Amino acid sequence: MIDFKALAKEYGTPLYVYDFDYMSEQYTKLKEAFRGRKSIIAYAVKANSNLSVIKHFAKMGSGADCVSIGEVRRAFMAGIPAYKIIFSGVGKSDDEIREAIERDILYINVESDAELQRVEAIAKELGTQARISIRVNPNIDPQTHPYISTGLHDNKFGVDLSTAKRMYIQANNSENLDPVGIHFHIGSQLTQLQPIREAAEIVADLIRSLQAIDIELKFFDVGGGLGIKYDDEVTIEPYDYAQAILGTLTGLDMTILCEPGRFLTANAGYFVTKVLYEKQNGEKKFVVVDGAMNDLLRPSLYNAYHEIEPLVDSTEPKQEVDIVGPVCESGDFFAKNYPLPPLQAGDLLVIKSAGAYGFGMGSNYNTRGRSAEVAVEKGKSRLIRRRESFEDLIALETEFLED
Ligand SMILES: *Cc1c(COP(=O)(O)O)cnc(C)c1O
Repeated sequence: MIDFKALAKEYGTPLYVYDFDYMSEQYTKLKEAFRGRKSIIAYAVKANSNLSVIKHFAKMGSGADCVSIGEVRRAFMAGIPAYKIIFSGVGKSDDEIREAIERDILYINVESDAELQRVEAIAKELGTQARISIRVNPNIDPQTHPYISTGLHDNKFGVDLSTAKRMYIQANNSENLDPVGIHFHIGSQLTQLQPIREAAEIVADLIRSLQAIDIELKFFDVGGGLGIKYDDEVTIEPYDYAQAILGTLTGLDMTILCEPGRFLTANAGYFVTKVLYEKQNGEKKFVVVDGAMNDLLRPSLYNAYHEIEPLVDSTEPKQEVDIVGPVCESGDFFAKNYPLPPLQAGDLLVIKSAGAYGFGMGSNYNTRGRSAEVAVEKGKSRLIRRRESFEDLIALETEFLED
């Protein structure tokens, strides 16, 4: 049990708290599920890009899936070896592509024909060969939230099968490209196995048709997306997930690459916020807290549900309240009509499942400094990012102030 009251006292609120032991357990579960095949678990850095979090996974042997050169640099700083780093994303700039090639990462995940031409041209300029994989869009509906589904043709991600095949042929004939992998990622917060299995089958068929023309790929990159329990979701067991994927690879000798983000960090994270007041507007009761949408955007952005635990001993009946922050937006809420007991100023609320797409989506809107982040490991806590001060927020502007 994490003593959130003690942590709030020591580090202040609002505060992100991450259970590093839980992250280790999740990592091990997934790694074990792929036992029997060569595999690399490449942590999707965007889920939680704190350097200490990445380093924690690096120490466990994890790779990194990055979606900007900034994330690639973080992965290097945190000690992930180059040969376990991949670079994905629909819009990579020339500078980003150049640096990724120079850093000799495992491969660049190419997401369009136009990008393949850029990667080839830049590798040629550098007089080298760029290892690539191609992101295939298998046109599968992942049956998840439309904002986080990525594997349908009307999404911006990846290329269709026939384009992919053409691109592999070009890459294979190019002196400056080395096609080593194939990639798909159909969405996030996946809770259904069937769409994953179907996507893997489609991609495995493509691999076989490439083999038939002597194009041999080494990495079968199944993306991330494994869902977690926020509320009452029935989630996929890592073992079943691995079996569904491996079942499509009969006769293919490939290394599995898996890019989980949310699965590794979401339920390891807690956002601790303090009650400022309760207020009543007509029928509606609000609990105003010191955290806000600039700290944890998911409820505002996706109407996402997070379980909220009040740290009070109360036997009084619960009442449905809206839990809102101080930001000047009606969309600034953590929950609506959420049953809570009566609260007082200073009481703490723990917002759960906040370890993925929490801090990273934060901003300084309303000139609010971002929260501190704390790691808890083997019963001990330590600061892994200090709270932003007012001076931090204005540092990039003050030199431009005219008198
Ligand atoms: C975001 C992303 C992931 C991680 O997704 P999760 O749902 O957090 O597991 C993996 N791969 C790619 C290419 C991504 O864009």
